[in-house]
Amino acid sequence: MNWTSLVDGLLPAHCQFCGAAGVGPVCAACQADLPWNQPACPGCALPAPLPDLLCPACQRKPRAFDAAFAAFRYAAPGSQALLGLKYGARFHEARWLAASLATALRLREDALPQRLIPVPLHRGRLWRRGYNQAQELARHLGKTLDIPVAPKLARRLRATPDQIGLSAPQRRLNLRGAFAVGKEVAGLHVALLDDVMTTGATLEELARTCKAAGAIRVEAWALARQPLGKVTT
Ligand SMILES: [Zn+2]
Ligand SMILES: [Zn+2]
Repeated sequence: MNWTSLVDGLLPAHCQFCGAAGVGPVCAACQADLPWNQPACPGCALPAPLPDLLCPACQRKPRAFDAAFAAFRYAAPGSQALLGLKYGARFHEARWLAASLATALRLREDALPQRLIPVPLHRGRLWRRGYNQAQELARHLGKTLDIPVAPKLARRLRATPDQIGLSAPQRRLNLRGAFAVGKEVAGLHVALLDDVMTTGATLEELARTCKAAGAIRVEAWALARQPLGKVTT
């Protein structure tokens, strides 16, 4: 047994939000109360008044990815679980978060991608943190949806300085050339997975790199969508 399956084996039996017994980690009632991100714009995953309708910004200028999807709006308790996973190594959170994203994705009619690519961390940051939270989420999501996870298909070539406080064009410049993608991506429909999508600049840069390497369709998936103007990550 490796350490990750050991962690999976230690999942709590009680609902972590209401304490209901035998239905952990999240009971059906608490699942229903989560801040699901529906309806949302299919181009950028921002909350929208109607489903399946591109928002004015996406109509004016399509994103570098072909579609975007997030399970939740960035609000408690999903946001706390994501912070716990990212900074506190609370690995058990990854399972229910990924299961929630899988549930939401199954409600779409779109074909599932052929590969799931977690947004890579730069090796310096990976070394300090010890794990990549996006990869933890991808591992569970790939298993649930039966999509092969390809964590080595994309690499982060350089650590990007903090994005906080930067405008959208500054973020793009900050990220240019940050990723390398293997040519095995050519001809594939892939989904990129990140924990939180804020402006989408990181996912767009990775999507651009995938397209340049020959990917035919690139979707951007995240656990939570943070509206602009509330940038904290
Ligand atoms: Zn509950
Ligand atoms: Zn949009």
